Amino acid sequence: MEILNFIDGRHEPATQGAWLDNIEPATGKPYGRLPRSSAEDVQRAMDAAQRAFPAWAATSVEERTACLSRLADRIAAHFDELVAAESKDNGKPERLAAAVDIPRAEKNLRFYASAAQQYLTEASMSGGAGQLHYVHRKPLGVVGVISPWNLPLYLFTWKVAPALAMGNCVIGKPSEITPATAYLMSQWITEAGFPPGVFNILHGLGAEVGEALVTHPQIKAISFTGGTATGRHIARAVAGTSKKTTFELGGKNPAIIFDDCDFELTLKTVVRSGFANQGQICLCSSRYLIHESIYPAFRDALVDIVSRMRVGDPQSPDTKMGAVVSADHLEKILSFVGKAKELGGRVLCGGEATRPESERCASGYYMQPTIIEGLSPTCEVNQQEIFGPVVTLQSFATEEEAIALANGTEYGLACTIWTENLRRAHRVAAQVDSGIAWINCWLERDLRMPFGGVKSSGAGREGGTESLRFFTEPQNVCVQIN
Ligand code: NDP
Repeated sequence: MEILNFIDGRHEPATQGAWLDNIEPATGKPYGRLPRSSAEDVQRAMDAAQRAFPAWAATSVEERTACLSRLADRIAAHFDELVAAESKDNGKPERLAAAVDIPRAEKNLRFYASAAQQYLTEASMSGGAGQLHYVHRKPLGVVGVISPWNLPLYLFTWKVAPALAMGNCVIGKPSEITPATAYLMSQWITEAGFPPGVFNILHGLGAEVGEALVTHPQIKAISFTGGTATGRHIARAVAGTSKKTTFELGGKNPAIIFDDCDFELTLKTVVRSGFANQGQICLCSSRYLIHESIYPAFRDALVDIVSRMRVGDPQSPDTKMGAVVSADHLEKILSFVGKAKELGGRVLCGGEATRPESERCASGYYMQPTIIEGLSPTCEVNQQEIFGPVVTLQSFATEEEAIALANGTEYGLACTIWTENLRRAHRVAAQVDSGIAWINCWLERDLRMPFGGVKSSGAGREGGTESLRFFTEPQNVCVQIN
């Protein structure tokens, strides 16, 4: 697959003619190439987007959202192609891409097509009803969207849809590790009705084209999802400018498992919350905090299930655990397991790189699902994001201790709470530092809800009206009416 940039309604290679290999994680082999774009390509996209902006901003919300709906139709029509591409590019099982990634990409576009049409701005009366105030929400101009590799099309569309719906022009940069589905989508942007220059997609390295995008003086806003270190770097790069930013960053999410939980439901769901997408979802649970009275039974039941999970070729319909995204990422995950062992942790299952039986996968990047116990809550394995199929177990005696452990990292993205005592569930949720708290469930999302993290997990919120507001500049207009 030869991937091209999409600028001003046309596909083209990087201006400087440089390319990067695109590797299939399941096989460890390159299967295509993508443009290694530079600041010159950012400038070309910016020139096109600025030409397009006045007319696009002046279109009606109905016209803009009709483009989003038609793009969603194209995604639905190319469902199988996108599923296969997402799996090949990322290493995730095709069944997961078919169940989660591609349906959600389509849903993101349809959701914002509808939400933008129903969005009302604020109005108020003041001065004894002498003045009418209203908020005129104007598009920002040209905005930058930067997304990671773990849920490629899902997270990319989550950002571009509200930006376009509110009348902005977009320059998007998907992860260089997983560019395929954004490229496929770029083939349908024009037929969906977006005028040239409104929606541009550049491929390449974060440190090159990504950096050029975020630091471009005419970029009005950056919507970023990725690692905390990258987010901090971008925050420093734009400090002192008037760019708006939103950061969705890493996590070290606790699953708090009380002794009065529904044991079977909890077990089944935390297996999913720890290991779905090979543990590479920002919302995955990575620290299981288990009440001491059920710790041995819960641990043994968990290990029994997880030690029987098999990694497989992502293309096989039976595979539930595929490849991790890259050789570097596999090394990183293994280095955390190595540190855990050095620190006296006991690896209860997994702990090694592995290979599915298929010949095709002989050089791919696969990690056994891994459970570790016996580590201090403050050690780096329990503090830093691993972002792989590795979970740690800790026990607690009291509710207060569970909350302290849950809050005892720099992160605050998501937590799950497992108890049949609803008073306790609400009480604990209120005290956990997290952007989202799931009680007796995981990954249930309502796209109208605010989404984001606290502490080092992010700044700002996405979702529902949060994103629509983010991608606009509010102007207070005041009218003297008597
Ligand atoms: P990275 O931070 O490495 O990369 C994210 C994106 O930023 C990529 O497109 C990357 O480009 C780009 N980038 C890298 N450096 C720069 C730079 N200097 N300027 C501009 N852009 C840059 O994250 P990963 O792709 O490794 O994704 C995994 C991380 O994302 C995890 O920490 C995970 O928790 C987090 N995440 C958070 C979510 C949330 O909602 N809070 C959701 C999903 C993931 P390239 O890769 O091409 O170099």
